[in-house]
Formats: sequence, structure tokens, C-alpha cells
Amino acid sequence: MERVKLATVWLGGCSGCHMSFLDLDEYLIELAGKADIVYTPFADHKLYPEGVDVCLVEGAVANEDHLEMIHKVRARTRIVVSFGDCAVTGNVTALRNPLGKALPVLQRAYLDVEGGVIPGAPVPALLDRVTPVHVVVPVDVFIPGCPPPAPRIRLVLEELIAGKPPHLAGRDIAFG
Ligand code: SF4
Repeated sequence: MERVKLATVWLGGCSGCHMSFLDLDEYLIELAGKADIVYTPFADHKLYPEGVDVCLVEGAVANEDHLEMIHKVRARTRIVVSFGDCAVTGNVTALRNPLGKALPVLQRAYLDVEGGVIPGAPVPALLDRVTPVHVVVPVDVFIPGCPPPAPRIRLVLEELIAGKPPHLAGRDIAFG
């Protein structure tokens, strides 16, 4: 069987979904036998490559860098997976949306609370509105959970690697 090119990307999230990925424990060894991890925050990859088979995207789209990255991911990836509730719905990352645009958020965080200055470049500019991934680019598979439990991640990866569309409904109640 041909090896799968797997990537994981971290946008506007807390990294908890990636920590849950590490909770795959011994399955990570099995996964390494079937897939090459070609881009991930766990390693020092500089460029997102062409021809990725599956990408797990953690986090919502919250700043200019996320926006550029998710378009690159979509253009270079066969199966894009919204990985965790921030990617699927906006979740915690989108809690700032009711405050309106980006400026009141920056003002509160950097001026009112810290008494400092609002950072400029090279810090990426916040988007006025945080959005789930599928609002920006088409998404093929959704893995809900905050974070998704490791058995749920495994189920999805096993099916994608086997070339099947993953079906979670009614199958992972025991995972919590
Ligand atoms: S879904 Fe939960 S664990 Fe994952 S990035 Fe968002 S807040 Fe963190």
C-alpha cells in the first residue's frame, strides 16, 4: 500500500487538539508505518508541501497568517479535516466575535489591561471576525470535540488511510 502523506496544522487554537493527537500513544507507531508526516507543529517543517493526502487543521481562522495558511492547505491537500471544535465551529477562539471588530479586542488586551501598545508587524494582524475553517475553504471531514478524544481521531485516521469516508455517527459514544 502506498504511504499516506499526512499533515497537521495549528491555526487559532490552544494546541489541545494536537495534545490529543499525541494521546494516540502506541497507535502513533502503527501510524508511522503507514503515513509520512510531511508538515506539523511537532517538527521543524518550514514549508507546507504540495501533494498532501490528509491534513488535520486545528483552530479557527483568526488572523491574516491563518487566512493565508488555510488557502495554501486547501490548494495542496486532497482531504482537509476540521480537527476539533475551534476548527468546526469557532468555539473558544470565536468568543471575541460579540465584541465586534478586532480593534476593541486589541484595545482591551494591550491598552486597558496591560497599559502597553498594540503590536504591529511582524505580529500578524487579527481579522475582524473569527471563522470556522469551512467558512473560508471547503472541508471534507469534521472531527468534533474540545479536544476530540484520541480514539475518535484514530477512527477517522484509520478510515481515511484505508481509503474510506469516515462515519462517526453512532460509533464513538464510548469515547465521550
Ligand atoms: S477545540 Fe478545544 S482543545 Fe482544540 S484548540 Fe479549540 S479550545 Fe483547544
